[in-house]
Amino acid sequence: MPRRPVAVALFALTSAASAAAQQRPRPGEGRQPEFPPPSILEYRPRTTLVVPAHPVPRARFPVVDLHGHPPALISADVIDRVGGAMDALNLGVMVNASGSSGDRLKRQLDAVRASGYVDRFVMFAGLDLRNVGPGSGERIAAQLEADVRAGAVGVGEIGKGFGLSHRKTDGTRLALDDPELDPVWQAAARLGIPVLIHVADPAEFFAPIDFQNERWLELALFANRRYHDRARFPAFEELMAERDRLLARHPGTTWVLAHLGWHAHDLARLGRMFDSLPNLYAEVGAILYDLGRQPRVAREFFIKYQDRLLFGKDAFQPDEYPYYWRVFETEDDYFDYYRDYHAFWKLYGMGLPDVVLKKVYYGNALRIIPGIPRSAFPD
Ligand SMILES: [Zn+2]
Repeated sequence: MPRRPVAVALFALTSAASAAAQQRPRPGEGRQPEFPPPSILEYRPRTTLVVPAHPVPRARFPVVDLHGHPPALISADVIDRVGGAMDALNLGVMVNASGSSGDRLKRQLDAVRASGYVDRFVMFAGLDLRNVGPGSGERIAAQLEADVRAGAVGVGEIGKGFGLSHRKTDGTRLALDDPELDPVWQAAARLGIPVLIHVADPAEFFAPIDFQNERWLELALFANRRYHDRARFPAFEELMAERDRLLARHPGTTWVLAHLGWHAHDLARLGRMFDSLPNLYAEVGAILYDLGRQPRVAREFFIKYQDRLLFGKDAFQPDEYPYYWRVFETEDDYFDYYRDYHAFWKLYGMGLPDVVLKKVYYGNALRIIPGIPRSAFPD
């Protein structure tokens, strides 16, 4: 009889043991609750965990919010109200990324210049990507040049409609890498301004809405986030492939992926993109739930890619910013997130070193946004 290698024998032994364990019922297995189980909305256990807690109402260093959606900055009232909230949070500059262009852009620039917050807001220019047809690229690029002359310092936010739903004049879906738009990305490169682009949405929005879907509740609540119907929407990976071809074709353009490109649950994937595309950046808006559930992996990622990551919040809700400060700055355990339909789990602090915090909070933004006011930031 041939001698069995030790490893094989060991494997046979352990797999036999685990097979036996599988046959033996686990304690309590097969029992049914003796009371009606609560629904996903009803079950809200209060935590019994007692651990140190360090809420952070105000960021440790001044912050650039690169993905801001304040109300339109058209009156002194609005600017004062948003500016006051920014002061309390230690937001040094907010990028209005709501994508204004033309007169709407100029009116907001004028209102900010006339306000007491002239050094605290910058505007990104929007692109009209509806009904793209022959000649659209040159026309959109010309409008962008005009908007930058008027004072815009970046492009964005390019919304998820680009790729997901915008149609061309011929009725087909406008692909992210449609060559018609090449003059636009070339103009951004020539002007030296960053392009904030939001592509797709969380991958789970493109998946079947079953009880294994991490975003079941959100998908049940919001009809307009359901993209699982392939007759109506491209697949998540199809959009990612188009996006990656677009980025690779324009290496001279400074790209900022909104929401970490929806790869916050797979940071290694985003890391590979950073490794191959030196002009690629990403901001952290609306994905805090993914960072806060992997504080050790996320901390290492932020340290490794500290020159490529930027702060962005997306929705302007002043009471939500401190959750970000707490995840980034503390080593707190097991604390609440602000939206139950994003995440049914708790968050943990990443405890980022100060040198990394400063780059993510403002250093990288000052580097890639031309002419951004610097008065709110340390040298
Ligand atoms: Zn946005």
